[in-house]
Amino acid sequence: MAFLLIWAFLITGLLFAKPIPFKLNQKKKQLPRIAIAGLGIESSTFSPALTDEAAFHAKYAVDVFSNYPFLAADSPLRHRVEWFPALVGHALPGGAVTREAYESLVNLTLELLKKNAPYDGLYFDIHGAMSVVGLDDPEGDFIERIRNVIGKRTIISTSMDLHGNVSWRLAENTDLITCYRLAPHEDAMQTKKRAVENLIERIESGKGKPAYKAYIAIPVLLPGEKTSTRIEPAKSVYAAVAPASVQRGIVDAAIWVGYAWADEPRNHAVVMVTGDDREKVSRTAEKLAQNFWNAREGFAFVAPAGTLTEALNKAIASDKRPFYISDSGDNPTAGGAGDVTWSLKEILARPEFKDENGPSLIYASIPGPELVSNAIAAGVGKHVEGYAGAKVDSRYAPPIRISGAVESIVYGDIDAEVEVAIKVGSVHIIVTQKRKPYHHEADFTRLGLNPRKADIVVVKIGYLEPELYAMRADWILALTPGGVDQNLERLPYRRIQRPMFPFDKKMAEPDLSAKLVPLSDQF
Ligand SMILES: [Zn+2]
Repeated sequence: MAFLLIWAFLITGLLFAKPIPFKLNQKKKQLPRIAIAGLGIESSTFSPALTDEAAFHAKYAVDVFSNYPFLAADSPLRHRVEWFPALVGHALPGGAVTREAYESLVNLTLELLKKNAPYDGLYFDIHGAMSVVGLDDPEGDFIERIRNVIGKRTIISTSMDLHGNVSWRLAENTDLITCYRLAPHEDAMQTKKRAVENLIERIESGKGKPAYKAYIAIPVLLPGEKTSTRIEPAKSVYAAVAPASVQRGIVDAAIWVGYAWADEPRNHAVVMVTGDDREKVSRTAEKLAQNFWNAREGFAFVAPAGTLTEALNKAIASDKRPFYISDSGDNPTAGGAGDVTWSLKEILARPEFKDENGPSLIYASIPGPELVSNAIAAGVGKHVEGYAGAKVDSRYAPPIRISGAVESIVYGDIDAEVEVAIKVGSVHIIVTQKRKPYHHEADFTRLGLNPRKADIVVVKIGYLEPELYAMRADWILALTPGGVDQNLERLPYRRIQRPMFPFDKKMAEPDLSAKLVPLSDQF
């Protein structure tokens, strides 16, 4: 009997010995399960360019973490959550995304998300201004398809660019939503981090989805270059967002300027506020929306603006060096094809730049793969000639013939792949294998060019990015033609909602009362 008892005790002991550490283990591992997915691009439907899948440089699984310094291996947020990064892709702005590329990236994302479902949360990292050939509101479509895979219980937190568009469908399917508060977007990473922190906080605290999401469409459509938060009125309009978002009962608040170079009903400004206090959520949204509407007449270009001829005349006559000119109509970071030759043709035709001792001008940039090959074959210091540009957008000028001396050849840029500086008269032209934005001083100095010592620097850009802005002695925005023409009234809109400021001059006061969006599990 005693033997049996001991035996039974031993057996029971063995049976129970295992589960104890197992249970402890399980408890320790009960971290929130959060997936990460998203696609970011700003794509113009007024540009003949198309964007393919490779342009998104999609990252999968653990590689996704490299997009977010706040999720680095040793960061606190990395260890608070069991992360399931699926796919995140970011493309330079460009023309509409092909339907094939979009379907491929979305289907891949959905497959990857299926593998580890269910999730407590999903961080949806998008820009919000993607245009896809033959499909309206791609971000709304994408999040709806994600919901079909992960279900309606998961809390989705979306972060966006303030130049993105928020459709009602996107608002319905997301639970938390926010966007940048600065343009230029110096707070991009801070915004993404806030979206992730708010998501974790709602899961860990057990509060779940915010009870209210207020949405207000503002019938205003403006180019980003009129809404920089460095100057009024956008400065004050956006400065009100952070204080609004930290009120008790509010989770987050955001204002979207929207994206002006696509022709869809969703293209307009939006305010959204999320939180648990119904009154405060609605009133806060209404206040931010009214502020924006009241400020509409005051939005103006961030710099003096004019035609290219006016810009060049002013720059040549000025004693302020370096004098920056934004060649804004073909700005590749807004969605221009980046290969319009019109401005370069005008510059090379000016007598002032024909002589190599004329005012030095750096032109950034023009894609020209054949000319790059010719330059490589010729070598640095040698003469080169050939055509560049107008492969994608030849509506304003044909490919341009460039004949000059090769100053430098640099390999390895992620966007340009190969960059060549060619000197024609007193102009240093940057010719690239593929299109690339020039936003940093190092983009120039790597090529042996010194923008601080140049008389004039012409860049395909809208408002100057911080490093260029800091070094400019003067600056003018040239209203040049291209896929992202800053003069919106020249664009052939057909499908945006009307009336819309500034197109409809005598419009009535719009309804700026807050609409409460159904929660993602209630529609
Ligand atoms: Zn933006």
